[in-house]
Amino acid sequence: MKKTRYSNVLGVIGDPVYHSLSPVMHNAAIRALKIDYIYVACHVKPSILPRVIGRISSMGIAGVNVTIPHKERVIELLDEISEQSARIGSVNTIVNIDGRLRGETTDGPGFMRSVTEQWGKLDGCKALVIGAGGSAKAIAFSLAEIGCEVVIANRTRERAVELVEGLREVYKAGRFRVADLNENVIGDEIRATDLMVNTTSVGMHPDTDSIPVPPEYLHPHLLVYDLIYNPARTRLIEEAERRGARALGGLKMLVYQGALSLEMWTGLQPPIAVMEEAVVEALKTR
Ligand code: NAP
Repeated sequence: MKKTRYSNVLGVIGDPVYHSLSPVMHNAAIRALKIDYIYVACHVKPSILPRVIGRISSMGIAGVNVTIPHKERVIELLDEISEQSARIGSVNTIVNIDGRLRGETTDGPGFMRSVTEQWGKLDGCKALVIGAGGSAKAIAFSLAEIGCEVVIANRTRERAVELVEGLREVYKAGRFRVADLNENVIGDEIRATDLMVNTTSVGMHPDTDSIPVPPEYLHPHLLVYDLIYNPARTRLIEEAERRGARALGGLKMLVYQGALSLEMWTGLQPPIAVMEEAVVEALKTR
């Protein structure tokens, strides 16, 4: 445990934040660890973000998670950020280190842990990332880090171009490009890829009939990772498995990124199975 004595409050700040599963997941871990903390969801509108961040150190709060829409803007309010957060321009975890606020991102590590646990090492793979938002950035940079060729396809092409430029700036020798999401092009991209990651919200509850790419291009040699965790089995996962592909949903990533945050705040080893069970239970009522 860290030397400094912190208040016993942890939490997530966002706008909106009512839908967040983090309180359920973290409070289950806190109970299992028998530590004197409580994790709360705080609705923080952009206009009060600077004041709220200022209170973290003045109130001795050990740390908070940061969610939409503050992940990028919060950076200028912190004392320091990790190398990974600087690369992707996003922070999802703030850690109070003896009064100094450090920004971290646990999405990329959470994704990589779940992928390697399920499918082993993917170093040097060909990856197709659908989407170019916050989570796409974290995932694209994590895949670039292990030498993967990364193709980005997004509804708004300019955002994909921006992401590819960001990747090229950091990994000068890397292979990165943009692909169109239109049906003719994306079919060829899917056929040529080893790993396809859906980072869009297409297929998420309640719009569960939607699918981000035409299912007929999914093939048996493909690994399909869908970041969506509600529902646990999206239409993309079902169509992929029906065609012989191996597929994984976003639940493990959610748990692993949360577990990493909790470990950063408390220095303790989080109870992964307890956290996962809490999320699965909570999803039954959503
Ligand atoms: P974000 O920054 O808002 O990005 C959303 C992405 O989805 C953008 O690329 C957007 O394209 C695309 N998109 C949205 N609606 C679309 C539509 N109807 N058709 C095509 N593309 C569409 O969101 P995010 O933070 O990256 O989160 C994205 C998803 O990942 C959410 O479902 C979230 O729950 C999930 N997620 C899961 C985890 C986990 O731990 N499992 C962690 C983070 C996020 P445009 O650029 O064209 O708008």
